[in-house]
Amino acid sequence: MKTKIPNEIENIAHILTDAGFEAHLVGGSLRDMLLGVSPKDWDIATNAKPEEVQGLFATYGGRTVEDPATVYENSFGTVGIKTESEDEALKIVEVTTYRIEGKYTDKRHPDEVTFAKTIEEDLSRRDFTVNAIAFNLSNHTITKSHLVDPFNGMDDLQKKLLRTVGDANKRFEEDALRLMRAVRFSAQLGFEIEQVTKHAIRENAGLLEMIAKERIRDEFSKLIVTPNAAMGVVAMEELGLLKFVIPELREGIACGQNKHHIYTVFDHNVRALNYSVEKNYSFEVRLASLLHDVGKPRTKGGDGPDSTFYNHEVVGAKMTTKILDRLRFSKEIIEIVSHLVRCHLFYYNVGEVTEAGVRRFLSRVGPENVDDLLKVREADRIGSGVPKAFPYKLRHLLFMIDKVKNDPISPKMLKLNGNELMEILNIPPSRKVGYILGILLEDVIQDPTNNEKEYLIARARELNLLNDVELVSMAERASEHKDEFEAGIEDEMKKKYFVK
Ligand code: ATP
Ligand code: MG
Repeated sequence: MKTKIPNEIENIAHILTDAGFEAHLVGGSLRDMLLGVSPKDWDIATNAKPEEVQGLFATYGGRTVEDPATVYENSFGTVGIKTESEDEALKIVEVTTYRIEGKYTDKRHPDEVTFAKTIEEDLSRRDFTVNAIAFNLSNHTITKSHLVDPFNGMDDLQKKLLRTVGDANKRFEEDALRLMRAVRFSAQLGFEIEQVTKHAIRENAGLLEMIAKERIRDEFSKLIVTPNAAMGVVAMEELGLLKFVIPELREGIACGQNKHHIYTVFDHNVRALNYSVEKNYSFEVRLASLLHDVGKPRTKGGDGPDSTFYNHEVVGAKMTTKILDRLRFSKEIIEIVSHLVRCHLFYYNVGEVTEAGVRRFLSRVGPENVDDLLKVREADRIGSGVPKAFPYKLRHLLFMIDKVKNDPISPKMLKLNGNELMEILNIPPSRKVGYILGILLEDVIQDPTNNEKEYLIARARELNLLNDVELVSMAERASEHKDEFEAGIEDEMKKKYFVK
């Protein structure tokens, strides 16, 4: 048990108690301390009203009334106090007035916030027993006798059990986000969900439909970054929550694969996620690992050992965009994760893929995404349970990438830019400019020595003479050519795996 309370917290507590108020350490910060984990933020609960807290702390740490140390931006009674601490977790300490919550008619937000008189009342509105313990900060060390623990949270903490405060059904009915929080905390803390609570989650799973997607996204994101993320996704399915968060993943549950896979699509996706978690890969790589084969069930051809999944990466990327967009993830996350899913099935074999092929691969994937893509590929490989001898091939691919890494692969690396092109050909900005640049780029990817102004100008003049139909079809061919690196895959895979 970590018992040392940081000075900043003691100071703030002293100011409150000297003014005649109470100060308790609560929520995740106390729970984490009791578990011997460093809290990532600190929460103090007090019977002082928000205005009183603001009054006491405006000039805290030498700040002035014009530039106060306090921030009060919500109507839930939480005043943030800025400290000068170097420690990220202590930079803003949240001081929240004891409160009870009113009715939740929309199952999202309490209709009103009512301030409470006692810490016990405040603890009774909290979600899980291990989050509903308080430590009276007028004491210096955390010992059992200094804890306020009306719901026996300490027992559950020791038994590693997650249990709702009070009647589980009622608590989930009040705020259905708690359904997701149960799974998230269970994964984050490595705790079991207690049986009655589990039962109530199953009973109330459908209430998740009423919850704002952003709140679900935040809990789901917190789940994905825990060490037990994969188990968490399985728990979401077992408890009936996945249906309301990413139903698309469920299509893989009964979807067997072919003779090269021993797992169903769902199990394989989960195992790929698990590998990314074990390797501590980024959030984006974890999501892409989980979703990389989400398109397989919808593209399955045939059945049994010779079934096929042609185009599943294209279908999967579209589904990924839809899923992440529905969950209100940022544009950046949606783009990168969908892109990784789209590209995960690249084919590479030593001696078969040319340098031009590697340049096309780089042009399509983007050099900045290669590392992440290889990680997703590794997760895919290990998650299949029957890893093939890929590492040598992948190392060779890296060697080839290194070899061509300074070659031109994107329009901005062309020695003729759009403006120059328009001036030379005397044409206005139009799709035509894009088509011509696309064809020039393909010429240069095919042979980097073509990246000379003179050659590019001559070629552009030539292309300018083509009629629209010819130009468009040439540009399309050039762009399809970029997929050559993976285009071979279908035949290759057929030859190797799917045809007896
Ligand atoms: P962590 O910060 O590690 O994610 P935490 O327990 O601090 O965990 P927060 O979401 O920061 O979680 O919430 C702080 C505290 O507020 C919780 O410990 C809990 O007591 C209470 N709480 C938060 N959200 C809810 C909710 N939806 N219903 C009931 N109590 C809640
Ligand atoms: Mg917290």
